[in-house]
Amino acid sequence: MGEFDLIARHFRRPVKHAVLGGGDDCALIAPGAGMQLAVSSDMLVEGRHFLSTVDPARLGHKALAVNLSDLAACGARPVAFTLALSLPRAEDAWLERFAQGLYALADAHGCELIGGDTTQGPLNLCITVFGEVPAGQALLRSGARAGDDVYVSGTLGAARAALEVFRGTLSLPEPALAIARERMEQPTPRVALGQALRGVASAALDLSDGLLGDLGHVLAASRVGARIEAERVLGCFGLRGAGPLPALGDSQRLECVMAGGDDYELAFTAPPQARAAVEAAARAASTPVQRIGCIEAEPGLRVVQADGTPLAQRFQSFDHFA
Ligand code: ADP
Ligand code: MG
Repeated sequence: MGEFDLIARHFRRPVKHAVLGGGDDCALIAPGAGMQLAVSSDMLVEGRHFLSTVDPARLGHKALAVNLSDLAACGARPVAFTLALSLPRAEDAWLERFAQGLYALADAHGCELIGGDTTQGPLNLCITVFGEVPAGQALLRSGARAGDDVYVSGTLGAARAALEVFRGTLSLPEPALAIARERMEQPTPRVALGQALRGVASAALDLSDGLLGDLGHVLAASRVGARIEAERVLGCFGLRGAGPLPALGDSQRLECVMAGGDDYELAFTAPPQARAAVEAAARAASTPVQRIGCIEAEPGLRVVQADGTPLAQRFQSFDHFA
């Protein structure tokens, strides 16, 4: 199977909304009147972001999911994406599964594949997504103000727990492992929530490298600090309902929720007057949200226990070059 057969067989479908899809030198998309294009790229590298043994359908899902998560964080509606693929070999069965997982998520969000690039090399997947947001309404990292509440969506830490199982530092009983593994391999981008938070949240970002580290980006961009309540964040731990987890101590749970990485939840801020509006957005998006702390004028991130005293444990967020 040659390069062009491969593309034609697995990655070419008629487009419904784009002006022009794959097959020409450029694809063409036309943003609606009064809309801005939100654009983001994310790359997944074998051995770094995923294991060679992962189900290709899950990999197809994840490659797009991490990109849709960025659109969600900006409150943008997904429109289209391109796929740049480096593949060690053209394996039809693998590509079939990969495309299945990819298109299933794409179809669920009305996001069309409109082009890409295909080359032979180490397994590497790079997607660029395009979304639409009404001009001036994108959620940014820079909008948090002292006094705002801090929230996270969904659950945290399960993906990290699964990673630690694969690293051999943790063992989880079934079905906790199945839940954790699914969270790691098939994250759910919070696309509906992001859009529902337009005009409600003052700042937002998606959590890819761990809550505290990522939240630090919002604090830096907004020139503020935050106080986070450890108990409230622990309440977000994604394996709470999975039965007894004897192997997992409190400090490991904290590490997973605070600095886990690969969560693809949204962290956002909103003024206290907007609490009812945040609840309404969460309901409209069928996505639970939890208030975990507040923004303060004093720079820095303070993690406190229930009695207000600082938490002694230190956390390391994920950095590819650290
Ligand atoms: P060019 O030589 O102009 O870079 P290519 O020969 O690489 O174009 O690609 C031919 C067409 O196939 C282009 O329209 C491109 O967008 C599309 N394409 C290439 N790889 C992929 C892919 N992995 N998924 C979807 N479309 C692709
Ligand atoms: Mg090319």
